Order: sequence, then C-alpha cells, then structure tokens
Amino acid sequence: MKGWSNETLHADYAQSLRIGRLIYDSETEHQRLRVFENDTFGRVLTLDDVVQTTEADNFIYHEMMAHVPILAHGAARRVLIVGGGDGGMAREVLKHASVEHVTMVEIDAGVVAFSQAYLPMLSQGAFDDPRLDLVIADGAAFMRETAGGYDVIIVDSTDPVGPGEVLFTDTFYGHARAALAEGGILVTQNGVPFLQGAELTNTMRAFKALFPDWTCYLATIPSYAGGPMAMGWGSAGTARQTAPEVLRARFEAAGLDTGYYTPEVHLGAFALPGYVRRLMP
Ligand code: SAM
Repeated sequence: MKGWSNETLHADYAQSLRIGRLIYDSETEHQRLRVFENDTFGRVLTLDDVVQTTEADNFIYHEMMAHVPILAHGAARRVLIVGGGDGGMAREVLKHASVEHVTMVEIDAGVVAFSQAYLPMLSQGAFDDPRLDLVIADGAAFMRETAGGYDVIIVDSTDPVGPGEVLFTDTFYGHARAALAEGGILVTQNGVPFLQGAELTNTMRAFKALFPDWTCYLATIPSYAGGPMAMGWGSAGTARQTAPEVLRARFEAAGLDTGYYTPEVHLGAFALPGYVRRLMP
C-alpha cells in the first residue's frame, strides 16, 4: 500500500502503519532503516520494514524487559543488553540506582546514530550516562568472548531473520548462561507466540536444557501485532519466587514512574494461557 509501511514478517498476516511523514529512509550496512511519523504511534522505527519500536508504546516492551528481571533479582549491579540500539532499554535499565554498569552490544552503529538523531525520546539521554558502555559488535561474538559476571542479560534483538538470527541459537544461549553471575537472569524477546510459536518453542527447549528455572512471560504491545509478546526467562537462581511484598518494596524503593509495569503485572505476566503452555517443551 502506497504511503504505508507494510510489514511482511509473517507468512499469512501483516500489519501496515500509515506514514504520516517520512523522516528518514536509508540502507545501513546491515539493514533498511526507516523512521516515520504516525498519528497514533508517534515516531516509528522500522528495520527491513519490521516495526522495532514506536514512540507511543515502547514503554510497555522496555519496562517489561528491564524491570521484571532487575526487580526480581533485587541487587543487579552489572547488566548486559544485546541489541537495543534505539536506547529505550538502556533508558529503563539506567533508572535503577543499583545498576552500576551497563554494557550494550549493538551490531549496527547506524541504528544508534539514527535513533539519537531522530528518536531522542527513546534513549532520553541514556547514551550520555557514564554507567553505559556501548560496544558496536555482533552480540553472539561478544557473548562467546566476554568474561561474564552479569546479574541480568537482556536480549533486545530483532526477530530471527538477518543479523538477529544468531541470537536465537542454542550456542548463543549457552554462552549467555555462562556469562551470568550467580543468581543471574537472562531475558530474551521471543516474538508473538500466536504467530511465532516455533520460535518460542525452540528458545524454551534450549532454556530447559540450560536453566533450572526457565519459562516465558507475556506483555501486550500494540505495534507487535498478533497478541501478547513472549519474553524468555532463564535463571539458575530463585528470583522468580520473589514474594509480592518484596517486589512492591523494591519497586517503591527504586522510585520508578511506570506506564505498564507494576509488581502485580510482573507476577501476572508469568501466568500463561493454554495455547502458550502448549508451546512449552
Ligand atoms: N524491540 C524490537 C522487537 O521486538 O522487534 C527490537 C529492538 S531493536 C533495538 C533490535 C536491535 O538488535 C537492532 O538495533 C539490531 O541492529 C540489533 N541486532 C540485531 N542482530 C544483532 C546481533 N547479532 N548483535 C547485536 N545486535 C543485533
């Protein structure tokens, strides 16, 4: 459709967003990057025509990928973000005063540069935070070589096509497991199970072999069409059993002003409907 951004991620189902105003359109070294304005979603970033993030609803994804593991952990000091070039994940992670150091490994310097120029509301100054160390590299190669010791690892990747594909392999998950400190937590973006069930099953099969505590949790993000999105959770610790009153106390102590995350939503997000449970190995 002319004048629309047409997403072709799924074989039988697509979404289109009207391009109110095209702000940027270019081929980076790795992918086609577009930023445009949409009346409902605000500024929208697409990579190879797949929506990555929008101004209006990114808070849901970023809050749930950052605050769930960090508040469940309770004392996260070192956090690794894989992907995350728009800076929204770093923004949420850095809201935690307990976090002393964030390493962000993004393969595409172009995404970082364009996001800073055209989507500054995503990072909100996160790239200038002295606690953030930005590494431009393939996350899989980085994970193979890192000395590790991370309390929380967040894989804020594209879908398993193109450069993001390696971030959905058993080898990558194995290296991520090894890079976690004791009691550490790995969370991964795992697509929309209604449409990408095999993707979730594959990740969960790998997690089952690696982690004593493995599952996924859900959040509904309007611009990732097709129902709630699954976020993979793997840990060798007991953070998922954190009591509701402890989570609430940590949430209040952190002083977070959230639009989606609450301790109750955190706990409820792990309640999986039957069709998602059936995708579990
Ligand atoms: N939230 C989005 C979603 O669910 O579709 C994805 C966010 S976007 C910030 C994902 C980022 O992962 C992109 O900037 C992309 O360049 C990066 N990326 C893809 N493959 C990568 C890899 N192998 N290593 C590091 N970053 C990668």
